[in-house]
Amino acid sequence: MKRIMQNKFFWLFLVVMFALPVLPQPIRVPEYWVTLLNYIGLYSIVAIGLVLLTGIGGMTSFGQAAFVGVGAYTTAYLTTQLGVSPWLALIAGVVLTALIALLLGAVTMRLSGHFLPLGTIAWGLALFFLFGNMEMLGKYDGINGIPVLNVLGVNLESGRHIYYLIWIVVLGAVVSVQNLLNSRPGRAIRALRGGGLMAEAMGVNTAWMRVVIFVYAAVLAAISGFLYAHLQRAVNPTPFGLNHGIEFLFMAVVGGVAHVWGAVLGAAILTVLQDYLQTLLPKLLGENGNFEIIVFGILMVLLLQYARRGVWPFVARIFPRGPHAHVPDHADALPQRSKPTAGEALLVVDRARKQFGGLVAVNDVSFDVMAGQIIGLIGPNGAGKSTTFNLVTGVLQATSGAITFRGERIDKLNSREIVKRGIGRTFQHVKLLPGMTVLENVAIGAHLRGHAGVWRSVARLNAAEEARLMAEAARQIRRVGLEEHMYDEAGSLALGKQRILEIARALCCDPTLLLLDEPAAGLRYQEKQQLASLLRKLREEGMSVLLVEHDMDFVMNLTDRLVVMEFGTRIAEGLPQDVQNDPAVLEAYLGGVE
Ligand code: ADP
Ligand code: MG
Repeated sequence: MKRIMQNKFFWLFLVVMFALPVLPQPIRVPEYWVTLLNYIGLYSIVAIGLVLLTGIGGMTSFGQAAFVGVGAYTTAYLTTQLGVSPWLALIAGVVLTALIALLLGAVTMRLSGHFLPLGTIAWGLALFFLFGNMEMLGKYDGINGIPVLNVLGVNLESGRHIYYLIWIVVLGAVVSVQNLLNSRPGRAIRALRGGGLMAEAMGVNTAWMRVVIFVYAAVLAAISGFLYAHLQRAVNPTPFGLNHGIEFLFMAVVGGVAHVWGAVLGAAILTVLQDYLQTLLPKLLGENGNFEIIVFGILMVLLLQYARRGVWPFVARIFPRGPHAHVPDHADALPQRSKPTAGEALLVVDRARKQFGGLVAVNDVSFDVMAGQIIGLIGPNGAGKSTTFNLVTGVLQATSGAITFRGERIDKLNSREIVKRGIGRTFQHVKLLPGMTVLENVAIGAHLRGHAGVWRSVARLNAAEEARLMAEAARQIRRVGLEEHMYDEAGSLALGKQRILEIARALCCDPTLLLLDEPAAGLRYQEKQQLASLLRKLREEGMSVLLVEHDMDFVMNLTDRLVVMEFGTRIAEGLPQDVQNDPAVLEAYLGGVE
């Protein structure tokens, strides 16, 4: 019932938006408001790209106005100077923008986090001065006489006509981004936040994914620029400067930085407010100037203080929630990799060593994991367990020594390559997307078992594969016993269940070895019992597990063998009962705990 209500408001919104320009007298909407709505639409298109890039991907760009400029100037130049058709000019603008964004993205993404914002500032400034200084682009006067757009024989000369084109593009941008977000690459994009360590461990090429959404956002900006040029029929450098790049970012933040519709709301609020303040403030202050900037600054501070997630969440109740992934009734099972035979040496760590400067964190440690076993790697804090774990999962590279998995050397591979070979992992500090459902979170683990890219996802040509991925995620959720939480938000689960969610996510990559880093840390007694029985069940099903653990009691009745480390060195190895009574272990490990 609630959903239908929400949809009713949404359809009402669409009908009102459609009717606005054609209402007859005496309720005819004045030209002025149509113009304002047109600008809101144009800005929304840019801000939607920023929601994807900044709100969801976690990357900040101040240079979107410059991309708007590329779209606008390309069509301005091609249509007025070379007589090219506007639609060809649109394609040219989009291609040019994509190439620039690809280049800019490829350079800045390889550098660490804040190089993108800096790079986009440099890009925004450089392009502004380029527009203003090039003879062929009319310098600071710009280009006039841009032709009117013609769609199916209709000339879009008046604001009331181009209004429809602009808002259809807005709607298309919203739908395309929502389609993208509810897909395999979309889940990878949402996993980028927080550094991308988790995404890489699930097999996502995070550097490439970042470039892809940077290009996507830039192309949306260029399309907005194209429409802008044909609405204005003239371009000059001013609207494409850095300050407008900041305004676009502001719109995305005000609306609600992680919500696609929030971009439209933010564009509307800022456009109307700016228009209002530009006439009001000079009157109040008796002086001319862009005083609205000061009000915007104050607004920004208030927003960050009181409504970090923007205005959108407050309005969201009357709009439909974006489509949610659900478990399909029927889907073909995904192919599985060959399973090792019980007792086969699965993982062989041979004199692995890791030095951090002068500190030897892992000192020539050796051990094996046989197929079908649970091996515990234990030791007091600082013993080097997590570092060993990171060597096996490819997060860190060993200084020397060899690590072999199913007969293949893996010690030079990165974590993306390692998960591909069938080593699934969880994190000592759980890394999940708290606002997404358990189902969607677990499906991220199946990333490598799908192939649908951005284009297929945007066009919704990925339905069959999505169904298979969701069915697999649901299967793993049932396997670990979380089915009652299938559609709950992951962030609402207790820590014990979040850890189990991570195990389901790791199982989604069809692993032959599961690596768990301190899965019992912070759990209550009952949760530890549940975790232990889950791991026993997985072992019975043939799964092999390497368990890094601090808690001696937890591993005692669970593991087949124990490896004990202290100060980076292996001090004991063997059956749990033997290890427990080993004098060196009692001295070093248990003595240390007391
Ligand atoms: P454990 O997981 O057994 O508690 P760790 O593997 O986290 O131990 O740490 C082993 C030792 O290596 C500690 O002395 C720790 O301070 C050090 N260490 C771990 N990671 C780094 C790093 N990235 N740089 C420098 N020292 C590190
Ligand atoms: Mg640790």
